[in-house]
Amino acid sequence: MRTRADVVALIRDGKSDRAIARELGIARREAAATRRAVGAPPVKTVYTLTVEQMWHTYARPTYTGGHMDWTGPTNHAGTPIVKRRQVSHSARGIAFRRRYGRDPVGYVRATCDRPGCVAEEHVADAPMRAELNAQYNAIFGGAR
Ligand SMILES: [Zn+2]
Repeated sequence: MRTRADVVALIRDGKSDRAIARELGIARREAAATRRAVGAPPVKTVYTLTVEQMWHTYARPTYTGGHMDWTGPTNHAGTPIVKRRQVSHSARGIAFRRRYGRDPVGYVRATCDRPGCVAEEHVADAPMRAELNAQYNAIFGGAR
């Protein structure tokens, strides 16, 4: 089989058949056939990452404050999400599960004042926020 140099170059770059097909406008099976012809192993695409791995790909620690900025996708409301196999997962929900080892109750929101923060230390579910508000009111006399 004749192999295309540009396809071989992208295989050597570690690109998946899907990525090569998209980049060069060829069929995936052509990229796969070239891969077999040059004896290169198949490459897992980014879509086979777990939601946890995707969270780590997109969450970036800030320089101060222990916050995490989100560089990944958001939903229509601007909530940080990761999408895997057509299913959206809340980035803060993932952080919550890792920190507390359980599923959150209600929405998970950031408890700090940094917009979009997804740091696991800065997320709380509905019962935890109610508890925090009760503590705040006990200390500050229910000022809010
Ligand atoms: Zn934060």
